[in-house]
Amino acid sequence: MNKSKIQKLDNFLSSHKKITIIPHKNPDGDALGSCLALMHFLKQKSHDTSIISPNNYPNFLKWLPGEKSIIKFSEEEKLAKTIIKESSLIFVLDFNDLNRIGDLNKIIQNSKSKKIMIDHHENPKKFADLEFSYPKISSTCEIVYNILYNLNPSFINEETATCLYTGIMTDTGSFKYPSTTFKTHEIISKLIKHGANGSKIHEKIYDEFSLNKLNLLSICLNNIRKVEKLPVIYMTLNQKELDKCYFKKGDSEGFVNYGLSVKGIKLSIILIENTDEKIIKMSFRSKGNFPANLFAEKFFNGGGHINAAGGLSRKSLKKTISKLLIALQDFNDEF
Ligand code: 5GP
Ligand code: MN
Repeated sequence: MNKSKIQKLDNFLSSHKKITIIPHKNPDGDALGSCLALMHFLKQKSHDTSIISPNNYPNFLKWLPGEKSIIKFSEEEKLAKTIIKESSLIFVLDFNDLNRIGDLNKIIQNSKSKKIMIDHHENPKKFADLEFSYPKISSTCEIVYNILYNLNPSFINEETATCLYTGIMTDTGSFKYPSTTFKTHEIISKLIKHGANGSKIHEKIYDEFSLNKLNLLSICLNNIRKVEKLPVIYMTLNQKELDKCYFKKGDSEGFVNYGLSVKGIKLSIILIENTDEKIIKMSFRSKGNFPANLFAEKFFNGGGHINAAGGLSRKSLKKTISKLLIALQDFNDEF
């Protein structure tokens, strides 16, 4: 970790006491885990710290230590605006483009506060006063661990460790993606030493499904299609199917990975209809060199990492599938 950046961060922290931390919209385990870990750490340094999430997040994250204090901009806009106004330092975590925070975008752009970005996505946009951008690192939580360790390791307590463990675990697919290195495991071992209970965290994230979620999974798996002549699988969930299973945010998390469990498949895609927002939300997961992020960016207004990306379409589900099949031909050489 770059010492001069840590020094600059330390200076910012010494001169700013009121701090806001922001994850990306639809925050995942890494986004919320990194925000909460940073909050627990800063509280020990007597900072007045708030987390403002652009919107709500899945129930399987609603046990993380400190989670109840998170303010959702979509539900408490006035309070969130006041807090941002009063803060002189803003951390943005697990994203690198202000487009990823929805309606908060303009507010943060117009804020005169100092901004610090901590993130692991490619192609960071220039808007922060200080950037910790490391696209090769598994997760924002892994970067946050390195930063906190360099600032003051004795402030990493059980709560911080639990939040960081969660984010690293979820963003590495439980330590199985290629982004997992010996350093990731070293950090995980230290987090366990600091009090993170890996087995319990795993249970909280992956073993508290609702029956509705399992029913939805069965529909989704039934909808699996293999693309002719390409190592690609896609699956769909339309609004009717979602409604039938009382769909809640997060219920479809992880479904797309099933496509990659088929021998020889290099790309798996899930398309989920959202009639409220009039979009088809898409997730892409790949194995090897297939650049899921470039594919999502070129055809579906998205982005992400080489092996995990997302995007969306404003066409109907049927038309989106047709577009997808044509787009795949364009990337034929990448397989
Ligand atoms: P997921 O498929 O789990 O929603 O997202 C996988 C990865 O793609 C995450 O790293 C996420 O940040 C990124 N991602 C998901 N949706 C979008 C999107 O609409 N735009 C961009 N730029 N990235 C996305
Ligand atoms: Mn992440």
